[in-house]
Formats: sequence, structure tokens, C-alpha cells
Amino acid sequence: MNFRIPLLALALATVSLGTSAQEKVLNLYSARHYQTDEALYANFTKQTGIRINRIEGKEEELMERIRNEGANSPADIFITVDAARLAKADELGLFASVKSPLLESRIPAHLRTSTWFAFSTRARVIIYNRSALKAEQVQTYESLADPQLKSKLCSRSGAHPYNLSLVSSLIAHNGEAKTEEWARGVVANFARAPKGGDTDQIKAVAAGECGVAVSNTYYLARLIRSDKVDDRRMMERVGIVWPNQATTGTHVNISGGGMVKTSKNQEAAVKFLEYLASDDAQRYFADGNNEWPVVEGVATDNPALTALGKFKADTLPIAQLAKNMVAAQMLLDRAGYR
Ligand code: FE
Repeated sequence: MNFRIPLLALALATVSLGTSAQEKVLNLYSARHYQTDEALYANFTKQTGIRINRIEGKEEELMERIRNEGANSPADIFITVDAARLAKADELGLFASVKSPLLESRIPAHLRTSTWFAFSTRARVIIYNRSALKAEQVQTYESLADPQLKSKLCSRSGAHPYNLSLVSSLIAHNGEAKTEEWARGVVANFARAPKGGDTDQIKAVAAGECGVAVSNTYYLARLIRSDKVDDRRMMERVGIVWPNQATTGTHVNISGGGMVKTSKNQEAAVKFLEYLASDDAQRYFADGNNEWPVVEGVATDNPALTALGKFKADTLPIAQLAKNMVAAQMLLDRAGYR
């Protein structure tokens, strides 16, 4: 009797050791905070048998953590939103270069680099209060500096990556000097000092506290398809403009990721990146989080995205966007856009 328990325990221990040594686990450092991502990862495990161990945190924290862990980092994949942040991670040398014919064939060239990849896009659009302004007055990002919008513009912080990416694209298209002049014009049009997130700007525009603002599309889509009547009513007061349709196209930002340089599971890591570009995962980004797939021709079923309609997107390479990021920050500082 005395022997049997330890023997049984030993046997069980051996069995469980055996399975855990064989079980494939991918360590995903994620700064995407969408509850619905759960299903996206569960589907990968179902398809491949590889379990996802997700470590969530703020992007800066996660980047710092990977750096501090150094060669011993368990991180296999780092994913986050915004080209500015991904570029920063790349600059810090966190990503390995990935050669995947599948990723190259499925993701358009302007939406990938040799180290990190976009898996979904979101557009940064102009929103306006329908009773305060007409759509014709706010057709371009450039128009936001127009003196006729004096005391009408609301904005989140200029230092936020979403705005830095947008300004980077303006630098690429219009040059630094013109963009700085634009930033000064924008600051002169503020209805209030920058504060809050995109949803706060939408609410302020709907309430008439400001006439115009910019917002990422998924925040708008979320409110359009909200099950709260108040949200849907609020959106009736808000007009949406696809900026720069006659010129450079609407600025799009991305969510994306790459394989961490020190990954010990490179094969599984590439498999995961390829999974994110699969039809299933792409549909998931669209239907679950109101973003557009990067892969062409993926059929989506999202009434809010359908309601937003089609638009011409800026095809500036995301790598070039990243190059102007520091210049964008400095220029906004000089213009007092904080
Ligand atoms: Fe966001």
C-alpha cells in the first residue's frame, strides 16, 4: 500500500512530462487588446495542434521585456497595431527576417517588409458634424488646416502613433516644410487642447463640441453596429469622409507582427504568421474586429464595413511610413501639436 501511491504518482508524472515535452507551444507577445482575438488563436490550435501561450501587455512594455530577456526570451511572435510601433520594434532589432513565399504572394508588397507584416488595415478618416459642416469642406487631410475650420477641430494627442503615422504619410506626399505649415494650421483650428482617444473625438463631434476630427474606421464601425440605440443615433449626426480620394488616397494603418529574432520555434512561428494571412484569419479580422483584410478577394460578412463602402487607399509602403516617424514627431512638437 505504501509503495503503490508513489509508484502511481511517478507513473503519472512521467506521462505528463512526456506530453508536455511533445506539446508544441508558441509564445505570442501581443499588444492587440481585442477580446475577440481568442477565437482567432483557438482556430490556429485546432488546425495545427500548436498551443498559443499569449502574453499580453502594452506595446512598450512588451518590447522592453523582449529586449531585457535577450537571447533567453521565450517570445516567438510579437504582434501589435500601428506601423509606427512595428517600425520601432524593428529598429530595436527585435524581429528576424522571414522568407515565406506564401506571405509574399498573399500580402501586397506595400503592406509588408522583410521582417514584419500587416495582416489587417484600418483607415484614418475625417468625421464631421452634419449640422455644423458640409462634407465638401473637409475632403482632404490638408483641408483640416483651412482657416475656415477655426475653433472647429478636435484631436487626440499628436504624439499618438495613429497621428504620427498619418503625419508621416503627409511628409512623404507633401514634404516636411509643407507638412509643418499644415500642422501649424491644424493647431490654430483646435476647438480644445488634444485629449482622449478616437471614440472621444467621435462623441465630441456628434455632440457638436467640435465640427470635425479624424478617427480610425473600426471605432466608427463598432458604433454603427452597436446594439445600443444611443450609439446608432449618435452616428446619425456624424458624417464620414474618405479623405484625399482625388489625390493620394486615404491613409491606412495596419495591425501586424513578425517573428522574434531569438525565437526557438521558428518553424511554428512562420506557420502562425502564414495562418494570419489565411482566408479564415483574414475573415476573422474583418468580421470580428471591423478591419479590412490585407489579402485580396477574401469575402467578408460585416454589415458595418459594407455600410462604410469602398474607397481609394493610399498605397504608400509601410516601410516608408516608418522612416518619417521621427521627423513627424519633431515637426508636430515644433508646431505645438501635443
Ligand atoms: Fe485603436
